[in-house]
Amino acid sequence: MRPAVLNPLFAPVENIPGVGLKLGRLVRRLCGPYVSDVLWHLPNGVTHRPRIQRPEEVVFGSFGTISMRITRHIPPPTRRQPYRIIGEGIGLPVELVFFNYHKNYLQTKYPEDRLIWVSGKIERQGIGIKILHPDYIADTPEQIPEFEVIYPQAQGVTSKLLRRILSYALPAAPDLPEWLDAAFQAKHRLPFWTQALEEAHHPKSEADLNPKHPARLRLAYDEILANQLALMLVRQQASRKTGVVVHPTGFLTQKLIDSLSFELTAAQQRVLIEIQRDLTSPHQMVRLLQGDVGSGKTVVALLAALSVIEDGFQAALMAPTDILARQHFAKIESLCRPLGVTTAILTAREKGAERERILSELADGRIQFLIGTHALLTEQVAFHRLGLAVIDEQHKFGVNQRLALIQKQKGVNLLVMTATPIPRSLALTAYGDMDSSRLDEKPAGRRPIETRVMPVSKIPELTQRLYDRIRTSPVRMQAYWICPLVEESEKTDLTAVKKRFAELRQVFGDRVGLVHGQMKGVEKDAVMEQFAAGLLDVLVATTVIEVGVDVKSATVMVIEQAERFGLAGLHQLRGRVGRGLDQSLCILLHGSRLTDTAKERLRIMRETDDGFILAEEDLKLRGAGEVLGTRQSGLPDFKMADLSVQSDLLWTATKDAQMILSLDPKLESPRGQALRTLLYLFQKDIEIQTLKSG
Ligand code: ADP
Ligand code: MG
Repeated sequence: MRPAVLNPLFAPVENIPGVGLKLGRLVRRLCGPYVSDVLWHLPNGVTHRPRIQRPEEVVFGSFGTISMRITRHIPPPTRRQPYRIIGEGIGLPVELVFFNYHKNYLQTKYPEDRLIWVSGKIERQGIGIKILHPDYIADTPEQIPEFEVIYPQAQGVTSKLLRRILSYALPAAPDLPEWLDAAFQAKHRLPFWTQALEEAHHPKSEADLNPKHPARLRLAYDEILANQLALMLVRQQASRKTGVVVHPTGFLTQKLIDSLSFELTAAQQRVLIEIQRDLTSPHQMVRLLQGDVGSGKTVVALLAALSVIEDGFQAALMAPTDILARQHFAKIESLCRPLGVTTAILTAREKGAERERILSELADGRIQFLIGTHALLTEQVAFHRLGLAVIDEQHKFGVNQRLALIQKQKGVNLLVMTATPIPRSLALTAYGDMDSSRLDEKPAGRRPIETRVMPVSKIPELTQRLYDRIRTSPVRMQAYWICPLVEESEKTDLTAVKKRFAELRQVFGDRVGLVHGQMKGVEKDAVMEQFAAGLLDVLVATTVIEVGVDVKSATVMVIEQAERFGLAGLHQLRGRVGRGLDQSLCILLHGSRLTDTAKERLRIMRETDDGFILAEEDLKLRGAGEVLGTRQSGLPDFKMADLSVQSDLLWTATKDAQMILSLDPKLESPRGQALRTLLYLFQKDIEIQTLKSG
């Protein structure tokens, strides 16, 4: 139960005086449903209205407050023109200009000879000054605020309105027990919570809006800490969930390792041990495997699968596309057959009798390893004894699909894989509910991919050189040619892809293929197969080939409009080459106008091909929110913390949360109790429940 002391903060916004149903709806949309949400709505600007007494103090174009004596009204001859009030103040002629006005009102309210105080943006007007639409006209200077807070606004919810709403909401914030560590608080001079809110809502200069300002720092830290604590509590509980317990015998895994043409890397061995430890533990495994393209995740997944199969369980692997599922299947099937392990593939393309057979053999356990697409999630798919579910390229799937797969069998162990590493500092925020393993070592003998950057104008030359090289190469050599297809401009992009295809045909003849997202699955696969079989020299593609495909003799990757991709996307694409022993080349083509960020991105791409480093650089260039992509990652939308500039806080809060829970896992100490209040404050009630049920 939420502590009663927080009740005023969880009152609906409509409880604030002057906020009725209509305004309430708008405020809810802008801030959220509760008074607390209004408190989290921090200012993004401040207007200083200094009181100006002498002409030298005037800064044209800035806000200021002056006193003036009215000498004359000049009503315009027509309504279209402005109404002017002339006067004298601070020793200068002053003119007030009104466009939308009520003549009688102005005349009676501000009669000639009256002394008034006016505030607004001061402009030059001849030898005097002019204020267009004064923000304030008052009888005394006290009626005009010196500092005026600006809030992010929305239709119908102006800063002015928000200032009024906040003047009611702020006093509603109760004093709460301090949850910050005293030493931490002292070190950063952080104000108490209510004081922090008060200060954050009353900035006096731009500097007060800086995320490093103690008040803002504290609020952001509180928010992140609440989030990290909550994630860890959930995780604590998840790891208490009983899972399918497996006892790998090593019988099949050893056989497979012996049959491989290569040695496992140290990273692969380490990760396999981590996985097997999870499998044998009574807790359900929920593990994320991050590994760069080409780091050899598939073999790890296969070994994990064999670990459960050798103990009589089944395994399933789900991939995001047909092409990828088939490729996995082909590879896995050829490795499993000699071991006597039965595999099958299930996608939307397996239909009729074939599908029936697969489903029934799956249900009675004859199929030991099922590979497929999201077709695995359909209701008819039932396993006999599923021990491990693997999801490849997990970011292509939603959380719901992840859940749907593990619901196939209670407590089934889950391994999710991704080739898009995320920076360490963000891993816990994005994947706090999972354990994580990293394949941070490339298989031996790989040559780094050489990356070059050039303008599109070089295409004719490039095409010719590519043609010559492919013709004269002693070994088979193929190229991918990527043209981006961006949703917003899909039509024109598609035209561009087709045009490029036609142009390359001029040079390469029929040894050029084309795949794009609007082709049917079978058509795409047919072209991909031709390419994989070496029947095509160049494969022009939109980003459909982004994930997974593996063609060893493809050693050239051309990416058009490289500036349209993020680092992660470019890296993914580049990872399609460099899979064999030959030197690979990646050419990034860009248009003529490049932003600084785009230039920087291309430079970084040229310098490194380590996905983990790129992930860190990406974070620097784009900010956390974007790196993670809120929707995909399950990253919460922080209201006060801005991860693009405060990701260091994330790191601190994460370490602090770990420390807190290691000392006080159930939050029972006095500080623990205060932290519970913090969790409620940020609506982490569900997470608090886990403390009880544990
Ligand atoms: P990804 O991590 O991108 O899914 P894959 O699993 O497709 O990578 O592996 C890329 C290629 O590297 C495959 O051809 C695979 O057989 C090969 N490979 C995997 N592990 C090793 C290793 N330890 N040594 C050499 N080659 C390996
Ligand atoms: Mg892969």
